[in-house]
Amino acid sequence: MTSRFDGIGMTSMRTRARMVERLRERGIRDEELLAVMGSLPRHLFVDEALASRAYEDMSLPLGFGQTISSPYTVARMTEALRGGRALAKVLEVGTGCGYQTAVLAHLAKEVYSVERIGALLKRARAAFRDLRLYNVRLKHGDGQHGIPEAAPFDGIIVTAAMTHVPRALTEQLSVGGRMVLPLGTQEQVLHLIERTESGIRESALESVKFVPLIPGVVS
Ligand code: SAH
Repeated sequence: MTSRFDGIGMTSMRTRARMVERLRERGIRDEELLAVMGSLPRHLFVDEALASRAYEDMSLPLGFGQTISSPYTVARMTEALRGGRALAKVLEVGTGCGYQTAVLAHLAKEVYSVERIGALLKRARAAFRDLRLYNVRLKHGDGQHGIPEAAPFDGIIVTAAMTHVPRALTEQLSVGGRMVLPLGTQEQVLHLIERTESGIRESALESVKFVPLIPGVVS
């Protein structure tokens, strides 16, 4: 059976290897993560017309006024989320195209991902099915509230900008768990929140650009 992307199979293997080299040059050190990003077909998650740009280090339009994070941003956030640990249960807020979700699915036992736009969720679900990723649980909802019934998580990643760290999310983090999220409005800074025995530790990582988190759900 042929798929619409068979033609760029070999090309995408080479361009993926180059993408991984660029990630290394920019300081990504997590070898397990780099191996996953080197093998995962990112072009399957972007619009067909943009497939040839899937491995360039840039964000891409996703439709619905949303943006697909650049490979570097995905790598930086995932590396910070892992912090050198193996992940068991991860929560993602903002599934979008599902590429970040798929990267996580290779590094964690289970990934829960919440998306407010139903149509995006449908598209991502089809991609996970094509890639036979069966450890992803998707939820159509407002991710600010997390998924209390599936908590606690040892990792939480938010891929839309928040103005503050919601209590609901820190409460769903296990002790020893890590959360990575962009904070701010126009200018945003990626933050790492660690839940320790004695409380919450917060550190700023670097400047980033994300679309804002929007409350509520749409079909
Ligand atoms: N990681 C995704 C990022 C997409 S952009 C990717 O690379 O494709 C941010 C995503 O967060 C969008 O899909 C947007 O619809 C979603 N989002 C925004 N506010 C949300 C909320 N309150 N709950 C869940 N998802 C939200």
